[in-house]
Amino acid sequence: MPRIQVKELFPVPDLLSMRRVLCVQAHPDDGEIGAGATVARLVQAGARVVYLTVTDGGVGTQDPSLEPGELVRIRRREGEEAALLLGVTGMIWLDFPDGGNLQLSAVREKIIEAVRRVRPDLLMVMDPWLPYEAHSDHRTSGLAAAEAVLLSGYPHACPQHLAEGLAPHAPQAVAFYATSRPNTFIDVTDTWALKLAALKKHESQFSPDNLEMVGAYLTAKAREHAVGRGFELAEAFKVLLPLQLHLFEDAWQC
Ligand SMILES: [Zn+2]
Repeated sequence: MPRIQVKELFPVPDLLSMRRVLCVQAHPDDGEIGAGATVARLVQAGARVVYLTVTDGGVGTQDPSLEPGELVRIRRREGEEAALLLGVTGMIWLDFPDGGNLQLSAVREKIIEAVRRVRPDLLMVMDPWLPYEAHSDHRTSGLAAAEAVLLSGYPHACPQHLAEGLAPHAPQAVAFYATSRPNTFIDVTDTWALKLAALKKHESQFSPDNLEMVGAYLTAKAREHAVGRGFELAEAFKVLLPLQLHLFEDAWQC
């Protein structure tokens, strides 16, 4: 029996054609790590990109003398400065407590609300199905965002938003960053320096040594993603249509 040519039946949506983008991250800095150079490229192509950060980032330190409240303030400033560098024009902070106790339905409801406000063509988020992903904030945020892509267009899902004047809205596609099954490789050679500069803004997260190590790994990975594609550096994504997010057996090979 011949294998279904699923990419011919369902062409992968063109990420760079999207004009309104909602980029969801569990913590300040996830978006830059996974997709920062593509965010900058989208902005340069004329897209409006809004960031949504699910948690307050208040657990992200190994320094016991740094109070969580102070850390939250520092991380918000770092996140805003990094996003500004990339050209992001809107920031939504959900401020759920950082540290692995996110409730899926609560996060999903807030992301659906944001989708109905921002009305993105594309939602970007970390891949919740990344093998060995041990951080449940990443898994829960990714899953909540994927579910929001499915549900935001349905008026009877979270109908309280309609009473607040928000109309249903379904994004055209979702792009998962930090994925092990990429189907899209974006040429980010020209915006790579911006991504690294944005990462550098997260001083509370990266010591200079750490930043050098992470930067070297990400750059090597971007070089690997670009092999044979005619450019030097790429960020990789799994881009799916909403219809491929439920009861779709071939989503893994799309
Ligand atoms: Zn994170």
